[in-house]
Amino acid sequence: MRVTKLIIHLDKFRHNIKCVQERVGTHPLLCVPVKADAYGHGAVAIANTALSAGAACFAIARVEEGIQLRRAGITAPILFLSLASPQDLRRIAIYRLSPFVAEHQDISRLVYTASNIGVKISVHLKIDTGMGRIGCRPEDALNLARHIANSPALEYSGTATHLAVSDSQDPSDIQYTNHQLSIFADAVAAIRQAGIDPGIVHAANSGAVIQHPAAYQDMVRPGIVLYGYSPIPGFPVEPVMEMCSAIIFIKKVRAGESISYGRTWTAPEDTQIATIPVGYADGLPRLLSGKHRVLIKKKFYPLVGRICMDQCMVDLGPNTDIRRGEPVTIFGGDADSASVIADTLGTIPYEIICAIKKRVPRICIKNEGIRS
Ligand SMILES: *Cc1c(COP(=O)(O)O)cnc(C)c1O
Repeated sequence: MRVTKLIIHLDKFRHNIKCVQERVGTHPLLCVPVKADAYGHGAVAIANTALSAGAACFAIARVEEGIQLRRAGITAPILFLSLASPQDLRRIAIYRLSPFVAEHQDISRLVYTASNIGVKISVHLKIDTGMGRIGCRPEDALNLARHIANSPALEYSGTATHLAVSDSQDPSDIQYTNHQLSIFADAVAAIRQAGIDPGIVHAANSGAVIQHPAAYQDMVRPGIVLYGYSPIPGFPVEPVMEMCSAIIFIKKVRAGESISYGRTWTAPEDTQIATIPVGYADGLPRLLSGKHRVLIKKKFYPLVGRICMDQCMVDLGPNTDIRRGEPVTIFGGDADSASVIADTLGTIPYEIICAIKKRVPRICIKNEGIRS
């Protein structure tokens, strides 16, 4: 086993699912976003855990991510949170993925593919109510819904929108979300009034799960809260990802001697410096150089000097009893979480956890102490 690894606490993921289920109640289905390898955690282990905790379906952002789940034996519906490119069409049909559609062209292409291959393709109509990313204009939704409903090769499985500021508590953002939800409600009502069943109606991402019950509808799609980072303080989820390593070298350094590239740090006094085999090629941002602390034997020690491609250095202080081989927690667990790192760098935890590279093995823990 490599020294540097990610511990994936599936028991905490399960706990976070329970927090969401308690918040939304039993009616809405739970769709678990596992795009970007489940936000860096490992999609298959996360998906299997989610299924056993009551998830109804999954959401992905690349066709390959859906294929990976199908090959792992997952038969639950998989929502493809994007529009099909011509090169995606066959695989969408063969692997039974459910793409968004937002234009007549999306629908026509899928009809053609479904008829050619001889399968029915399930689609969700995506309405843009103010996110400005993908989706039809609200006034076009009814015509598109008709087109889907009149296409026997397609199954009209759902109607969705996405919220831009549901995770903000700023009053003007709350108002914006309510505005998006009311545009969405009107569009869905128009589809129903025309006698068309809009399928599963869904809008809620993490922020909406926490503070916009009106967004719950038939299904919720919270991602980041399930991985343990609440955009709104007080929601009791716990980070699932913990990054660990171990000291591979310790040396004495004299006052005035410098550490790492660029000589950005000089020892103010005689001290001992540890080297840890974690670097920016593992996904630890180089911008974090000199701005992070790691946990060793229940105490925090600062990173010093520049983070290198594969290694970084920690100041253990002059009188340490720490030895080579000692485990180090880089983030998560009892150390600072990915969300503290995100705050330090002025970004969001999503970016920190998605950045951890494939070269770092993911070790899943189902019950504290039992590894698989
Ligand atoms: C990523 C994504 C989500 C989940 O968002 P979180 O902020 O992680 O809760 C939900 N819906 C869509 C369309 C997404 O792209």
